[in-house]
Amino acid sequence: MSKLIRGIRGFRDIPPDEAFRHRHAEDRTRDHFTRFGYREVRLPLVEATQLFSRSIGEATDIVEKEMYTFADRNGVSLTLRPEGTASAVRAYLEGGWKVQGGITKIFYTGPMFRYERPQKGRYRQFYQIGLEALGGPGPLVDVEVIDLLHLLFVELGIEDVKIHINSLGCPVCRPGFRMDLVRFIRDVAGSLCSNCVGRIETNPMRVLDCKVAGCQDALEGAPVILEYLCTECHDHFSRVTGGLEDLHVPHEIDPRIVRGLDYYNRTAFEAIGGGLGAQNAVAAGGRYDGLAREIGGEAPGIGFAIGLERLALVMDWSKIALNVVDFYVAAATDNARIPAMQIADSLRRKGYSVETDLEDRSLKAQLRSANRTGTSRVLIIGDDELKEGTMQLKDFSTGVQETVDRRAFLESIGVK
Ligand code: ATP
Ligand code: MG
Repeated sequence: MSKLIRGIRGFRDIPPDEAFRHRHAEDRTRDHFTRFGYREVRLPLVEATQLFSRSIGEATDIVEKEMYTFADRNGVSLTLRPEGTASAVRAYLEGGWKVQGGITKIFYTGPMFRYERPQKGRYRQFYQIGLEALGGPGPLVDVEVIDLLHLLFVELGIEDVKIHINSLGCPVCRPGFRMDLVRFIRDVAGSLCSNCVGRIETNPMRVLDCKVAGCQDALEGAPVILEYLCTECHDHFSRVTGGLEDLHVPHEIDPRIVRGLDYYNRTAFEAIGGGLGAQNAVAAGGRYDGLAREIGGEAPGIGFAIGLERLALVMDWSKIALNVVDFYVAAATDNARIPAMQIADSLRRKGYSVETDLEDRSLKAQLRSANRTGTSRVLIIGDDELKEGTMQLKDFSTGVQETVDRRAFLESIGVK
């Protein structure tokens, strides 16, 4: 036998139970987004490398070390998308998706690719569902987007995830903050991890977000961006937080929320918690009024992306049935095997999920299988039942078995 060929590190196979959970989480999120007027778009998995290096920023973790970049057969540099926002904004600009006199609300879902160290909740191919509201610069857009995220958690029964929010200012007020931050970080550089030391000049804001505990301690007393905001940014932020209060969206102002991508300005937020440890952000997003300009257009926007694996980890699955089998149809004799399959089909045509035996097994073995499916209802037919037009209906939950008229029973459950 040949040696088993294995998958690539960080690229997972998602088995049925987990795929069911992802699908379920994704479907409910999709429905939720739709209730706020968002419409799904499908975007390519591959883009010109430049799209990401320009929009996300050269000095970010993603562009510096996490992208899957390769040359195609013509030597053009392409990249597997590490996130969805840059593609969504590109498609919006290129496709002329601007809604006249309104906000364009779109969402996407699918795999993203980042060359990171694989660990629980962190993979090299992972799945996001994210949305973008494009064309509206005002704070009420931010309020609705964050409110939507909060209501999604309510809808999915997620209680211990909290929305942390901050403002990143704008090109007018951020430089002053950045200067003071760099000064502060230089003074404590001795206690920072090597990663952070490397970021002092290139991406000092990202130091605030470092997950190493020692770095977090060293940053005690670091300058707080909210104290540097210009009047416009300050007003924007107060209207956002005021709106969240009025809509009863629990949130916490957190000066450490900085986002790792360059394109963000003003409102930035993350949904944190759910016992995820260092991989603790379920969703993250923010406003990116300057992003479109980097790729040749103009569009203020705000959006977020939810990590589906992490969402599935923090959801309450206790009340959601994983695998629903409505009926098991068992054949007590060989003559009944095909009739059992026919009855199963008539049930399936009406939408029931039905299993039967395909291995010529004994009735006893079939009942054991039926039990394993988790269904409580088994229909048994043998020679007598075939002759008399009846079935045995066995209810596993009560243990009761009774003879029923085949036609009358099927009619009673909507199958004629
Ligand atoms: P982190 O700080 O955890 O690296 P990030 O800031 O890189 O997150 P974003 O780019 O904002 O993350 O992506 C949004 C969400 O996508 C994250 O909150 C997380 O739920 C999920 N995510 C990001 N990277 C990964 C990954 N490698 N594996 C699984 N999920 C991920
Ligand atoms: Mg990351």
